[in-house]
Amino acid sequence: MRFEAWIDEEIAQLREKSLERRLSVFSETGGKIKIEGRTFLNFSSNDYLGLARHPEAISTSRKYLESYGCGATASRLITGTLDPHDELERVIAALKGYPGALVFGSGFLANAGIITSLAGRSDHVFADKLAHASIIDGIVLSRANLKRFHHNDPDHLKALLKQCPAGGRKLVVTESVFSMDGDIAPLAEITSMALEYGAMVMVDEAHATGVFGPGGSGLIREQGLEDRINVSMGTLSKALGGYGGFIACSSALRELLVNRARAFIYTTGLPPAVVGSALGALAVIQKAGNPGAELLRRAATFRKRLQEAGLNTLNSESQIIPVLIGENARTLAVAQRLKSKGILAVAIRPPTVPEGTARLRLSVTLDHSDHDLERAAGEIIAEATGELGAPEDAKTRRKDAC
Ligand SMILES: *Cc1c(COP(=O)(O)O)cnc(C)c1O
Repeated sequence: MRFEAWIDEEIAQLREKSLERRLSVFSETGGKIKIEGRTFLNFSSNDYLGLARHPEAISTSRKYLESYGCGATASRLITGTLDPHDELERVIAALKGYPGALVFGSGFLANAGIITSLAGRSDHVFADKLAHASIIDGIVLSRANLKRFHHNDPDHLKALLKQCPAGGRKLVVTESVFSMDGDIAPLAEITSMALEYGAMVMVDEAHATGVFGPGGSGLIREQGLEDRINVSMGTLSKALGGYGGFIACSSALRELLVNRARAFIYTTGLPPAVVGSALGALAVIQKAGNPGAELLRRAATFRKRLQEAGLNTLNSESQIIPVLIGENARTLAVAQRLKSKGILAVAIRPPTVPEGTARLRLSVTLDHSDHDLERAAGEIIAEATGELGAPEDAKTRRKDAC
């Protein structure tokens, strides 16, 4: 048998279920991008505030590139912690309202590093059913006992905490703004439940950072829960437009992470230019005051328009707006038709979302004007509610696969 035979078989099976994914190559980023000379409204960018190309983020990045060179040249514990890393951690801790912060190579690594440091073989981690893959992988890597509670359901969490055998540490993990549904966790209730049962609490603010809360600090701070939530995780790669992840926490926990988090210890520090872009973006946010307010206003108007036409946007309350379609092939077909009208709304399918809940995931950004959103809403409503004509041949459909 040829070595690759099983690989071909795996891919053929994915293709059959309309689950094959392909990389597309783009020449620009942003909420409006040109592809082969034609302008598209891009609803798949996480650069909600347009900071990825902000002049101040670029100039700070360039400054650090020129002062410190291309790379950190060592892991953080050796000689890879430079002044910019130190400065960034202070700025993040202040923004988030925690005594300390630690920057990781990415949000994925931050989740892997924190969970494996807090939980081990004899411990229990309770995660929301829709928690991001990096949270689940962190738990698997920790070898702790994983229990998943129904999405945004503190009562189910309570039942699981109650049933949990005595012994071992307990950790509850949720996102504040959910990445695929755009809805918001009942943080206060989840936290109370966790504290009642002696569990630590961790919240992933990947999509809330920069958008929600005073000065873009996130929902933990907006709700005044810094003293009750042990771990505030976030990323520099969504609204901050750059790359890297972080944990804001107590000084003691930060020290533990420096000693224990393998995803922090055994990898090179972030490049100075990357740290610079985050510092530049954070400075822009600080000057803006509440940068997310206008974004959330536009998103709310857009969502209302979709809902009034009968589309199911689940419980979205943020700049992330899902439009539930259901079936994989149909979702791909809708995305394909929207693309032909200049609208990029990528079809999100299992295993990223549960089986039978394939959807368009629309990210509103400040690059989208009210006028753009009004036009997009009209097209999306027409395609998502209309009868689809003859199915397009599988080859053209596959081009849009994500
Ligand atoms: C994107 C994301 C991450 C990972 O962050 P990266 O910096 O992209 O690695 C973690 N959690 C959630 C909820 C995310 O959406």
